[in-house]
Amino acid sequence: GREIRLASRPVGAPVAANFQTAESEIPELADGQILVRNTWMSVDPYMRGRMDDVPGTLPPFAVGEPLDGSAVGEVIASRSRDVPSGARVSHFLGWREYAVMDAAGAAVIDTDLAPEPAYLGALGIPGLTAYASLTDVAEVHEGDVVYVSAAAGAVGSLAGQIARKLGASRVIGSAGGPEKNRLLLDRFGYDAALDHRAGPIAPQLAAAAPDGIDVYLDNVGGDHLEAAIGALRPGGRAALVGAISGYNATEAAPGPSNLFRIVQGELTLRGMLVSSYVGLLPEFIGKAAGWLADGSLRTEQTVLDGLDRAPAALIGVLSGANTGKMLVRLH
Ligand code: NDP
Repeated sequence: GREIRLASRPVGAPVAANFQTAESEIPELADGQILVRNTWMSVDPYMRGRMDDVPGTLPPFAVGEPLDGSAVGEVIASRSRDVPSGARVSHFLGWREYAVMDAAGAAVIDTDLAPEPAYLGALGIPGLTAYASLTDVAEVHEGDVVYVSAAAGAVGSLAGQIARKLGASRVIGSAGGPEKNRLLLDRFGYDAALDHRAGPIAPQLAAAAPDGIDVYLDNVGGDHLEAAIGALRPGGRAALVGAISGYNATEAAPGPSNLFRIVQGELTLRGMLVSSYVGLLPEFIGKAAGWLADGSLRTEQTVLDGLDRAPAALIGVLSGANTGKMLVRLH
């Protein structure tokens, strides 16, 4: 089967030459292993960090080796009693057409409940990230004003709708460009949309929330985080989920200039890693599948076809080429 390997480490934004397609032998299955024919794979902003030779929460990708990440597929051979041939599974060996793994490394998914790609989006890491951020990290209370950045992306397109379910009185989202702003209002349940490409975010946020905000879900960092700190009311809470504005940066960005507002407003800014919430996933899948079925959670995805398009998908997700979840369809 074919796989995508890291050819070289990027400086700044990744380019096609940092990736290389290669053919690899499918090994014989050992006892307890399964062979999966991947059907969909996810590309995610955090993968950019793993292309650098810098320790993170996950180890760096190795030059000359395949990348990895979330994927779903069909088990086509099995030497495991737990996961039979024919099962659909989600696992962590994306960036390749066929994957061999211990059955324990795969989770059987129920495609009667939701289609395969949903397990990489609303029923997967992005959905759980949005849900855990707003129920635990920066708890939304009845009547809160909530602001979400990168609001047309995988996490953000779900977060506004989930905030509303949790009782938010007003949800504000920001995204790049007029088309995404229209979607925030028409499809993803936002009351106000800010366009970070049209001008600085802080004055737009102040105009959309003249009395301030109570909760901020930060996907972007940088100027967006500074704007939110400037808008948070006393007792306000922020879930620091990502800082994509800096992922391709070659120098450290300056910190927010208004950190003393954290003291003045007794604000809470709290980092979150979705890996701390994976125990919640089965319960969350049940809940979110209900929302998909009753139409109260709307989703969007941008699909690129074929393994060869995976590098373009990752390059694209870092620069806003996606609406909703960025996915690669493999078979
Ligand atoms: P998205 O689908 O939101 O894709 C990323 C989006 O970021 C792009 O579409 C683009 O949208 C926006 N963006 C890129 N550069 C900038 C910039 N300079 N300023 C403002 N917006 C920018 O990705 P995900 O939903 O998968 O992830 C969103 C964030 O959440 C990321 O930071 C990611 O690392 C983080 N994350 C963290 C997790 C955790 O455990 N802590 C788990 C999952 C995600 P636009 O066109 O609107 O600019």
